[in-house]
Amino acid sequence: MADERKNLALGIDLGGTKILTAVANAEGKMLSRDHSITPAKEGQPAVVKSILESVGRALAQAHIAVPDLTAVGVGAPGLSNPETGVLFTSPNLPGWRDVPLRDIIEKELGTKAFLINDANAAAVGELYFGAGRGARNFIYITVSTGIGGGIIIDGKIYTGSIGVAGEPGHMTIDDEGPPCNCGNRGCWEALASGTALAREARNRINEGATTSILEYGGGDPARINAEVIHEAAQAGDNLAAELIARTAYYLGVGLANLINIFNPEVIVIGGGLSNIGDRLLKPAFEEAGRRAFKQAYQAVRFARAELGRNSGVLGAAAFALEKMSGARRT
Ligand SMILES: [Zn+2]
Repeated sequence: MADERKNLALGIDLGGTKILTAVANAEGKMLSRDHSITPAKEGQPAVVKSILESVGRALAQAHIAVPDLTAVGVGAPGLSNPETGVLFTSPNLPGWRDVPLRDIIEKELGTKAFLINDANAAAVGELYFGAGRGARNFIYITVSTGIGGGIIIDGKIYTGSIGVAGEPGHMTIDDEGPPCNCGNRGCWEALASGTALAREARNRINEGATTSILEYGGGDPARINAEVIHEAAQAGDNLAAELIARTAYYLGVGLANLINIFNPEVIVIGGGLSNIGDRLLKPAFEEAGRRAFKQAYQAVRFARAELGRNSGVLGAAAFALEKMSGARRT
């Protein structure tokens, strides 16, 4: 039995609303885990300060100090370059532009650090310790308020020429579709995310549709979300069922594109919307099957993500260890 305190990494999952920090070993065992709020509105110095405080608590909880770490991995939302460690821009971190986040963390902590996109980190987490274990080619998709993803090719995260690859949420599905946060329209996430599902429900209610969705949201249109719509669908609401079927349809269209381009062994699906389960995923997989090449579709296995909220923080830690050539596949 290897010493579980050897080859330790610190993973940081920086989100727009929360910071998750954990000390983990090369087998994905977490020795500590700290959860705090991201003061995103207070700007970059406040966020960096919060990260460092969280790191301090995670180290103390694991009874170790910075010199005990092999490296630090930072998963951050938005577009970043893992080679240079620069976060270009992030929709979840207002005001952040071309921030050398890796260097800031390295300097503050005095140890080697690596930067990776948050959804790519989650993909690496699932690759090492979750539903992608053992796969050489797989795609991780997280469907929640948006659609993020990570593409693993030949056992490595594919990040493209300047690091911003792996944004399947922004492939165009409908050239005249609804506007997307990225500036384009008809992107996958503008049609198949939880935000898209809730928006469509509000539109239909405004048009006078007969439905109990609003009641399940406590009468407040702002409280309509995927969970509320799922609840209404489970209770037999026709519109809710129709809207989930529509989301499944668009999910399937995007999955077919990914299957035809990448011919993956496994597609791992995580994120809040995947909690709807079979009502959403089964018709999505079927739609993908109607559209993708038969051989590629038959070769792919669909799996639900296994690590939940820990995928990003564990993936960031594993990415750092991989970069230091210290991680072992389980
Ligand atoms: Zn987009």
